[in-house]
Amino acid sequence: MLNFDLSIAIKDKSSKYNIANTSLFRLKQSCESFGEIFDVEINGGLISTSIICPICGDNHRYKFSLKKLINGTVAVGGCDKLGMPILYIGNGIEIRNKTWKYNNLNKEIYGL
Ligand SMILES: [Zn+2]
Repeated sequence: MLNFDLSIAIKDKSSKYNIANTSLFRLKQSCESFGEIFDVEINGGLISTSIICPICGDNHRYKFSLKKLINGTVAVGGCDKLGMPILYIGNGIEIRNKTWKYNNLNKEIYGL
């Protein structure tokens, strides 16, 4: 089953993920909600992303297969300096499963 609904999750400086729910057709517009740190282009069968890393401050670029994303997988982009994920694109439910613990953890820390 093809799925054109996508979510994007980007880690912020406090390790919390900001999540945008969008679709393949609104990907370009929705990346603007993250401000200048994130850019995305669809080119042929690839999604090219550029992100200013919340961990090291460098500009990391990733290319993901469009076909895999619409088949429901989740693409991960990581900071290669620390080996930590900073970006997820794909199935919204899967992304929530992968990120809720970080967001919950942060809530708990802030709750102290
Ligand atoms: Zn980095």
